[in-house]
Formats: sequence, C-alpha cells, structure tokens
Amino acid sequence: MISKNPYTNQVIEEHAVLSNRKIDEAIQTAQDTYLEWRQTSFEDRASVLLRVAEILRSEKDTFAQHSTEEMGKPISQSIDEIEKCAWVCEYYAKYAKSFLADETIKTDAYHSYVRYEPLGVILAVMPWNYPFWQVFRFAAPTLMAGNVGVLKHASNVQRCAQDIQYIFEKAGCPKGSFLNLPISGDQVKSVLENPIVKAATLTGSYPAGSSVASIAGKHIKKTVLELGGSNALIVFPDAHLDTAIDTCIQARFQNTGQSCIAGKRLLLHESIHDIFVEKVVEKVKNLKVGDPMDPDTFIGVMARDELAEELQEQVDKSLAKGAKCLVGGTHKNAFFKPTVLVDVTSDMAVFTEETFGPVLTVTRFSTENEAIRLSNTNEFGLGVSIFTQSDERVHRMLPNLEEGAVFVNDLVKSDPRLPFGGIKSSGYGRELSHFGIKEFVNIKTVYMKTI
Ligand code: NAP
Repeated sequence: MISKNPYTNQVIEEHAVLSNRKIDEAIQTAQDTYLEWRQTSFEDRASVLLRVAEILRSEKDTFAQHSTEEMGKPISQSIDEIEKCAWVCEYYAKYAKSFLADETIKTDAYHSYVRYEPLGVILAVMPWNYPFWQVFRFAAPTLMAGNVGVLKHASNVQRCAQDIQYIFEKAGCPKGSFLNLPISGDQVKSVLENPIVKAATLTGSYPAGSSVASIAGKHIKKTVLELGGSNALIVFPDAHLDTAIDTCIQARFQNTGQSCIAGKRLLLHESIHDIFVEKVVEKVKNLKVGDPMDPDTFIGVMARDELAEELQEQVDKSLAKGAKCLVGGTHKNAFFKPTVLVDVTSDMAVFTEETFGPVLTVTRFSTENEAIRLSNTNEFGLGVSIFTQSDERVHRMLPNLEEGAVFVNDLVKSDPRLPFGGIKSSGYGRELSHFGIKEFVNIKTVYMKTI
C-alpha cells in the first residue's frame, strides 16, 4: 500500500500488507486483551481516553500534517479534525458510564432489568476522507463499552492509521485494545470470518458496505454501515439568504467536497434562484484554492487523481444532458476547480449519484412538495438542510423527508452528542451519542422472581 501526497505527487511511504498468519496473531492478541479490558472499570477506561485526548491536542500539528500530506485536506481543516477527535474521547469518557448503566424495567418479577455488556473484538473498516475522525468516533465508544477494536484503514492513509495506534499505545491502552491491521480490502473477508471477531462497522462506499455486510451476515455478525450521501440544501424565500449562501458554500466545499454529509444538491425556490446563484458563484470564484499546507487555503486537492477523473465524468455526462457550468468544471490531476452547475435535473448523474468532490449542483423548485420530492429523489438518505424562518414549514416537511438527519438553517454535521447515520443506501445503525455506544453491546435481560 502506498501513501502518496496528492498535491506534490511524491510517495511518502510504502506499507507492506500483513500476512494472513500475522492477521490471525493480531486478532488473538486483541482477544487476549479483551478478556482483561472488559473487567476494567469505566473510571479506568475513561482515564485512558482522557490521556488519548491530551495526546491528540498536544501533537495535533504533527497528526494534522500527516493527514494533509496523505489526502490533500487543507491544513486548517485537518487541525479542526484532530480537535474534534479529542472532543469525542472526552465526551465518552464523561458519559459512557451513565449511558450504559443498568436499566430497571417493572414486570411481574421482584427485580427485572437490562445490563449492557461488551461483545468482544470489533472490526472497523474506515475511509480516508476524515482519516482521524472516522476512526475516533468508532474507537471512543467502543473502548468505553469494554470492547476492543481492530482497524482496517484505507490504503492511502496508512501513516494516519499508524499514528492512531501510536496514540492509543502512548496513552497506556493495553497492547491489543486497539490494533491497526495494514491489510487490503480483499483481506477483510478473513478477518470477518475469524470467529473471534464479533461485529463490524464500515464507513465507505455502497459496494464496500454491501460486501462486508454480506460476509458478516453469512456468519451472523452484526454490522453498522455509514455509506454515501447526496444531501440536499433546500432554500425557501423566507430564509436569511446571506447566511444561507455562506452555509451552503461551507456545506458543499469544506474538505474539498469529499464528505458523505456534504450538501451536494442545492434546491432553490424559483423566486430567489437567480439572485442566490449569482451570489454563490461570486463567492465560489473567490474561494482560496491551492497548497493544502497553506493555513489560508480553503480548497485543497482531491485525495487521488482517479477520484477527480470520476467526478469529471459525472460532470461531463450532466453537461451533455443540459446542465450549465457557471464556474469551474474541469480538473488537472487531483486538483478539481470548485464548480457550480445550474439547470440540473433529477435524471442527471450529478443528481442521482453521489459527487465526492467540489461540485455544487443547482435545481429550482416552485412548491414545498416539489422540494421534498426532489430531495427524496435519490438512493441515499443521510441528511438534508432546510433554510427557512418558518418552524411550521419544518414540522410539515419533517415526516416526508427520507433522511437520517434534518438540520434547519445549518449544514448537516456530526457531533458527539447527536446520533449520526442514514437510511436507504446510506446504511443503517447509528454512531455517536448514547445510540452509538449501544450498537456493539449485548443488551442482557435479567429477570429475578422468588420461588
Ligand atoms: P471505499 O472505497 O468504500 O473505502 C472505504 C474503506 O473500505 C477502505 O478502508 C477500503 O479499503 C475498504 N474497502 C473497499 N472495498 C472493500 C471491500 N470490497 N471489502 C472490504 N473493504 C473494502 O470508500 P472511499 O472511496 O474510501 O470513501 C468514500 C465513500 O465513503 C463515499 O461514498 C462516502 O460518502 C463514504 N463515506 C461515508 C461516511 C458516513 O459516515 N456515512 C463518511 C465518510 C465517507 P482500501 O482503501 O484498501 O480500498
């Protein structure tokens, strides 16, 4: 596996993949550690996670630099990502005990209740787009619940994967409580088939999710899937338009557009369409693009050249069907110009497929129902943003929106306090909040009756 800087095209490091024998040894180490880790108190686990947070903060510049070098994310956004990882560790260190406290349920028994117990070794298959955050939002609740984790990270961010293992080791996590497995996608099957591994979570594309879920299903192992998204940004005429414009640009272009929850499809009411588009285009032209290591850069490069080529194909196919490009629209190597396409209709590739890069599509609507229909005309169901000053409108629309999350007057974002996940082809299960920590536990019913 090769780590390559997509901005300079220089190879950073090459990583040998683990042999199948080494994979089995690592999984056995994880299992041995699990048997001890599950006996530790919440307080002990919390103190380890707090040390993890301290290390993330004190060495954030190094970790952020590694992330930017491996996948092209602007450095200021890499630093924010590391800060967020520290937050999720602190959050679960503080709340895991109360989330997993026994729950008494009144029945005919003199005492009946639910206990939450860990499952064992959990596999995490993770993507490169938030190379630290995706892993920490899995690792923090998993470890606090008493499970241990093995990580198959994306091939192009193996140095970040090594950093993450280093952080857990330095924080004093017992060896085996969090192990990085440098393996290919093909080797995931043998990990899933190992009887020691009890469940898996995957964040990534539909094909990868489908493959992992099929293998896990065959072996009756639970999965959580966080897959793609094509969120709509719906703007009504009663919205605060200047704020909506800035928020929509942030929603679409941060992380160079490579985010599952990015607002990819802008749906504009016909009465504000022209003025909104004019202002968006003006701002997009002025976005600071360039060297991802420059602290002022807002748009860096995409993570790999071929990802930019795939995006170009989606754009070209849509232009051929009648979309118009007002800014951008082309790429050179991994650098894709920030792009705005208008006159986009619901049969075009940029509308029906996920666009994983800096391309904003614009479609007009005339009624609330049409906005809902357009928003739902998509295989994904991760989230949607609605811009309006009418709570009544929001409550009217809510039951009809096929999404895991609805954000009003803001971009869809992940937050340790809120459940995160989708429906339809965006996957199932939830990460973060008290829901996330209960995905990989045995919900044990206890019923005690006197004879
Ligand atoms: P990807 O190709 O699916 O890769 C994700 C991970 O799965 C990588 O570790 C990859 O390993 C592995 N993988 C790929 N094919 C596999 C297979 N057949 N069996 C087992 N593992 C496999 O996705 P990506 O291109 O890196 O990431 C972009 C996608 O992730 C987008 O669709 C995006 O929306 C989604 N995503 C979703 C969320 C969310 O929370 N819902 C968050 C971020 C990203 P290799 O790198 O070795 O191929």
